[in-house]
Amino acid sequence: MVGASSGIGLGAAVALAEAGAKVTLAARSLDRLSPVAEALHDAGFQADVLELDIQDLEGTEQTIASREPFDVLVNSAGLARHGPALETTVADFDAVVGINLRGAYFLTRAVARKLIEAGKPGSLINISSQMAHVSGIDRVVYSATKHAIEGFTKGMAIEWGKHGIRVNTICPTFIRTPLTEQTLANPERVEWILSKIKLGRLGEIEDVMGPVTFLASDASAMITGTALMVDGGWTAG
Ligand code: NAD
Repeated sequence: MVGASSGIGLGAAVALAEAGAKVTLAARSLDRLSPVAEALHDAGFQADVLELDIQDLEGTEQTIASREPFDVLVNSAGLARHGPALETTVADFDAVVGINLRGAYFLTRAVARKLIEAGKPGSLINISSQMAHVSGIDRVVYSATKHAIEGFTKGMAIEWGKHGIRVNTICPTFIRTPLTEQTLANPERVEWILSKIKLGRLGEIEDVMGPVTFLASDASAMITGTALMVDGGWTAG
């Protein structure tokens, strides 16, 4: 579980722990992860922690290689630097691509490599976005990276199907987390968002917990190379 220190990643960790999984909470800082792991332990669940910065490709590869293979990956690490395309800086472009695409790609590959070496099946889930299927105001670079995640998800699903490794994405709409705090503090943006979500409300972290559990489990055994929209109907029209 990468990006487990907050938001959707944290919700996914709780969901899988509740479903009986032993979860490894991974993020850049153990300071934020350790209290979550302790809370899960106190609630009777199994959890450990792992320091991982997916921007550091070599470090990520080595860390994953040094562990027992993970049956399930939920990659919820992500970054957004929203703004108009005409004002995108190279630094912001590189930062967002570095985590959302480059980091996600090599993390997913590292987990799959370990599974393939061990001859084990697995379910690899990247938290993508509805912005992988449409774009939105000031979301040019962000949506480009999310579209790219869909591409590598399909490619990896094709390549690793023979190993029993499934690769899918979950594509949420706007969910209240630290990532969306700034956008959701802007009444104009909230009006735009609510005009698009057919179910007429913002998403909550709980809305992603069922989909994560589904894709992680054998209930989705025949599902690979696809995107599970959790968008309240945004992309339907
Ligand atoms: P968040 O900011 O709460 O979580 C992002 C997580 O990524 C944090 O735990 C952070 O520590 C981790 N992270 C960032 N850089 C990292 C790195 N280099 N290495 C390891 N971890 C790193 O935001 P969130 O809303 O929970 O976002 C989680 C994912 O969901 C992101 O990929 C985001 O694009 C996606 N998403 C969010 C929404 C939304 O509305 N919140 C909608 C669609 C998709």
